[in-house]
Amino acid sequence: MFGPKTHCVVVVGAQWGDEGKGKVVDVLAERADLVVRYQGGANAGHTVDTGAGEFVLHQIPSGILQGAVCVVGNGVVLDPETFFTELDALAARGVKYDGKLYVSDRAHLTLPFHKLLDRAREKHERIGTTGRGIGPTYEDKYGRRGIRVGDLKNLAGASTRVCARVAEANQMLELLGYAERADATEHVALLERLAPRLLPLAVDAGRVVYEALARGEAVLLEGAQGALLDVDHGTYPYVTSSNTTAGGAAVGAGIGPTAIDAVLGVVKAYTTRVGNGPLPTEAEPAIAEEIRRLGGEFGATTGRPRRCGWFDAVVVRYAVRVNGLTGLAVTKLDVLDTFAQIPVCVSYTLDGEELDTMPADGESIGRVRAVYEQLPGWQKPTSAVRRLADLPAAARAYLDRLQDLARCPVRYVSVGTRRDQIIEVP
Ligand code: GDP
Repeated sequence: MFGPKTHCVVVVGAQWGDEGKGKVVDVLAERADLVVRYQGGANAGHTVDTGAGEFVLHQIPSGILQGAVCVVGNGVVLDPETFFTELDALAARGVKYDGKLYVSDRAHLTLPFHKLLDRAREKHERIGTTGRGIGPTYEDKYGRRGIRVGDLKNLAGASTRVCARVAEANQMLELLGYAERADATEHVALLERLAPRLLPLAVDAGRVVYEALARGEAVLLEGAQGALLDVDHGTYPYVTSSNTTAGGAAVGAGIGPTAIDAVLGVVKAYTTRVGNGPLPTEAEPAIAEEIRRLGGEFGATTGRPRRCGWFDAVVVRYAVRVNGLTGLAVTKLDVLDTFAQIPVCVSYTLDGEELDTMPADGESIGRVRAVYEQLPGWQKPTSAVRRLADLPAAARAYLDRLQDLARCPVRYVSVGTRRDQIIEVP
């Protein structure tokens, strides 16, 4: 991906998340000097298999495993407690991060009261959130009452504000009929305990990224979740609370959009979704179960079984458009190795009329019927293949069809969990 004219690359999910971005970022990070997370928080879960073991990362950019300098951007909402738990677990497994990890002083903090609010609301609204406090932290950010990493420099001021927020949160919990309450003293103690560890990492992260680009270094901006979970472009209200799409990368990393040279969209060779909301290509239960088993489709953050179905070209075409994708990375091709026939959704119909893009409202998306084309399966193992030419002809034809339907070239094909199980398309 990186080259003389391509210094800044965004990697985004182009479906409903869990596309295997962690693995793709891990592969690309080998050639990156800097890896930046720009949105989301501890609700993300990237699983990376380095070959020496499996790592699940929630808040720390997965580039840490390749020794890249890692930055948590201003667009991320940071749960400081789980951040350090994650960091200590990495250190215990020999991952070095000294001088290689920065956190934006403008990133907002997710605190225990946010998690209580998240769980209390989920009881009523059933969006299918992870209950990690992400939505309530973004609510506070846009309500201009959030607490940011840099605020910890004035611990007394931050403590006063957190106490006021806890009192308000408790009123809301009461209103929502939720039994648990947040404790202001515990919140103050948490800030006092974590500030000395967090502040040394806190920087103007946008400047770090800007200066790296000015030096001609390779910068990778790592998205979490996927396009159809974007708060503006996703299947609202069953979405996450941030802009997951490439435009959000500039804002959330603190750079201008003109700094971005390429956008790689990660897609599974089929489709999955976790949580509630429409999924037009959801397979019938027995086949969904088969895909789930073959693909190990259980959430990295919550362990929830993912809903599974066929590749949806309407979704990916939409993701190509709203992200300005310049290339696709197709993951988990190997999961389809045993199927004799593979349906691919080429368009939708709604009330008898053909649609070739996503409707805005969830009600319509819930009612669309997927129009399928049947493609022949290859029924041969692909996980040992490292060159496109060595894939079975039917697998190559499948990938060709996906890129034609998506209107975006395939640049990478992943055929297994390990770092080396990747095909770079010449
Ligand atoms: P992310 O949030 O987009 O990084 O995705 P997750 O980490 O939640 O889910 C991707 C899962 O698929 C992880 O368990 C990966 O190890 C696994 N994975 C990634 N690429 C491949 C692949 O090409 N084949 C197979 N079989 N598994 C893969």
